[in-house]
Amino acid sequence: MGIVRLVQIAVVILLVWMGIKAIKRFMAKDAEPRRVRRDAAPGEVMDVMVQDPQCGTYLPKHEAYSAWIDGKEQFFCSRECRDAYKSGQSPKAKKA
Ligand SMILES: [Zn+2]
Repeated sequence: MGIVRLVQIAVVILLVWMGIKAIKRFMAKDAEPRRVRRDAAPGEVMDVMVQDPQCGTYLPKHEAYSAWIDGKEQFFCSRECRDAYKSGQSPKAKKA
């Protein structure tokens, strides 16, 4: 009867040990992508690239100057480009 009890305890210890191992593995898996995401600036990765129709520069949306032109939101790299586009409606970047 002592052996049955011993086996039961051994099984419990084994299950607990396996559980801890599984949790550790889960946490390690969970921590890795989080660390990567923190290294890369979250705003930049998530942000959309937009093209300045005036000079053709691509830039992240959050850094762009925006303006509504002909019912469309346009994004510009600088105020100069926005103003130039607004006043001139530059045909060189506008195709068709
Ligand atoms: Zn520009």
